[in-house]
Amino acid sequence: MSLVKLDNVVMEFELGTFLSKTRIRAVDRVSIDIGRGEIYGLVGESGSGKSTLGRVSLRLYKPTKGRVIFDGIDITDLPEGKLRKLRKRMQLIPQDPFSSINPLQTIGEALIEPLLVHVDISREEAIEKAKEILEEVGLTPAEEFLTRKPHQLSGGQLQRVAIARAMLLKPDYIVADEPTSNLDASIRASIVKLILEFQRRFNQALLFISHDIALVSLIASRIGVMYLGQLVEEGPAKSIIREPLHPYTKALISAIPLSEELGVERVVLKGEIGNIANPPKGCRLHPRCPFAMDICRREEPPMIEVTPGRKVKCWLYVKR
Ligand code: SF4
Repeated sequence: MSLVKLDNVVMEFELGTFLSKTRIRAVDRVSIDIGRGEIYGLVGESGSGKSTLGRVSLRLYKPTKGRVIFDGIDITDLPEGKLRKLRKRMQLIPQDPFSSINPLQTIGEALIEPLLVHVDISREEAIEKAKEILEEVGLTPAEEFLTRKPHQLSGGQLQRVAIARAMLLKPDYIVADEPTSNLDASIRASIVKLILEFQRRFNQALLFISHDIALVSLIASRIGVMYLGQLVEEGPAKSIIREPLHPYTKALISAIPLSEELGVERVVLKGEIGNIANPPKGCRLHPRCPFAMDICRREEPPMIEVTPGRKVKCWLYVKR
């Protein structure tokens, strides 16, 4: 059974001033589910809607349409008071740790706060737990880190604090939103390893969001590919990386260094990702796709299941 289920989710935002408003559909009718203990990789360029979808799955955003189910409970319309009880079971590891931790708090305060809110525990016990988790994420001596402020830590150290804060309450579901993209290449692997260690230990459902399909294919059991707010392909990670179906997935794989060794058809897209405020009609990829046909410009392709668990949204695979 799925721990997290997103059913036909739409997320719209209103942007602009009171004189001129634009409605942007950042996520458009996306359905995914993630099982307990499963790592689901969500990939796509920036602007594809993957971070927004991650936040909807945590009910940090209330979807405009569709349902969000967590552990069998429909949390789509749950008021904040009731959601708060579930919050400790679902946590976010953000892309930018500097924005997630209050710059005026010490690291100790940032770690103790969620414990005091969600667990029946004394301040002394919370401090001990904060020390333990700092040691587990490799920030030692823990006593020293407890008293530091965020600006006294490097980006990598602060991301370790963000991971510690997310894992403190042993959540069942984690969204890791591009957790290494702001970090030096030299420390990215150790941060991913740390997240995976906790994931295994607590048997967590993990939604790992990244633009790096090569990295995601190494750690996820299933991959979903997003383009301009829509899911365009989904399937087992091994099959997506070895036999991608959608031209967009093929283009992402073609951009991996040494991708020719995978034997995947090389696809290069024209231009840049389109404008989410005014997406192309028909298939959203058609202005960039080297295989575009007349129907692609006129009609949106359906998402079809080509084999069990393997889905693609492209006219090339629709029998007509
Ligand atoms: Fe390309 Fe058409 Fe497939 Fe869209 S539906 S990805 S334009 S071939």
